[in-house]
Amino acid sequence: MSAGEWGFETKQVHAGASPQPGSGALALPIFQTTAYAFPDAGTAAALFAKERAGFIYSRGTNPTVAAVERRLAALDGGSDAVLVSSGQAATAAVALTLAERGDEIVASSQLYGGTATLLGRNLAKRGIATRFIVDSSDPDAWRAAVGPHTRALFTETISNPSGQIADLETLAEIAHAAGVPLVVDNTLATPAVLRPLEWGADIVVYSASKFLSGHGTVIAGAVIDGGSFDYGAHADRFPEFSAPEPGFDDLVVSRDFGAGGRLGPQGKNAALAGKIRLEQIHDFGPTPAPFTAFLLEQGLETLSLRLERHVANAQAVARWLDGHPGVNRVFYAGLPSSPWAELALKYTPAGPGAVVSFEVPGGVETVQRFLSALRLISIVANIGDVRTLAIHPYTTTHGSTSPEERAAAGVTEGLIRLSVGLETLADLEADLETAFAAIDYPAL
Ligand SMILES: *Cc1c(COP(=O)(O)O)cnc(C)c1O
Repeated sequence: MSAGEWGFETKQVHAGASPQPGSGALALPIFQTTAYAFPDAGTAAALFAKERAGFIYSRGTNPTVAAVERRLAALDGGSDAVLVSSGQAATAAVALTLAERGDEIVASSQLYGGTATLLGRNLAKRGIATRFIVDSSDPDAWRAAVGPHTRALFTETISNPSGQIADLETLAEIAHAAGVPLVVDNTLATPAVLRPLEWGADIVVYSASKFLSGHGTVIAGAVIDGGSFDYGAHADRFPEFSAPEPGFDDLVVSRDFGAGGRLGPQGKNAALAGKIRLEQIHDFGPTPAPFTAFLLEQGLETLSLRLERHVANAQAVARWLDGHPGVNRVFYAGLPSSPWAELALKYTPAGPGAVVSFEVPGGVETVQRFLSALRLISIVANIGDVRTLAIHPYTTTHGSTSPEERAAAGVTEGLIRLSVGLETLADLEADLETAFAAIDYPAL
């Protein structure tokens, strides 16, 4: 059986790495090296000229990082993956590779706070505008926002913190009819729960700081190139992919990183990954450390097992909160009453991740009292840790977004976001009950 036919659980422990030749080291070695000795000067010149791929300098290429990239590509069914220093760096690298000054991105407005400011402020300031879709469940709103300058559609598969599920098949159809790729942030789902490329997405970005690594020990991000989008065939929108690359005698990204190209992995189309490496990694340097890649690999080995437990606990906590008299509303697509329940059954039959948000009656002061009363659950601006985490998005993760952006992202004053961990369920419920007691909810 070839590696491509392995099941998910086999891939998560084996894909992209094998025992180290020479030593036989079974665990992934950490290649803590800045650079690589060339066997001769001619090889150095050939690698620099991109006549073929190879290790030059660890800002761009490192064997530990490369092994993790192969594993991530395998888990999502992509042609290639680029590991970067954070989730923010992953989204920035994709946006800057697809769009330049005067171009536009069409994006859901239900976004992680950092993505909202990256697209809505930082890139806007540099001439790349984003049209935000307020009702992202309305396909006509997406269609109407697409224009001649559009370079990508962008959505989170499961939105943070509002828990909406994107209708990937419909969005892929709209993107492809317009001749642009569909880019999705799959951080909350991970490939253990949802593989967006199988539903028509072309590019997947991750914050690997969350469930992918899973132990709350790293900051990292990844871009998965689906290999499905033909940039060469859409030279009207992506002329740089088909033009000779400045500084190289004979390099055309869509050809040479494309299927059959001399620089692509195993004859697959990895033009996007190639262009990200050539420009974003090379020029801006958002490179992950080899040790970070190693820690991420340790997490990936148990990804599906952790997600099973994360999701089971999240389902139970969501149901428990839904029946609690101190709760106004629960946002979790795994509840039958959720407006996203049907899409969740289609796209995430194993359960829509482990981020559960809920609204308590009252404002900032009430929520702060609630969170401060928690003893087992930590107040942390993170998700996807083995430990259960809670945060008040209104005053933290979304605190620097505008009132309109907060409203569009579903972030109200009474909203609390939980990232449900792997603890014993009864202990989580007991801790939450203590916090409810502290806000005196029946009197509110
Ligand atoms: C955390 C997060 C990001 C940003 O990732 P970092 O690794 O913190 O840079 C992007 N998208 C989503 C959905 C996230 O949860």
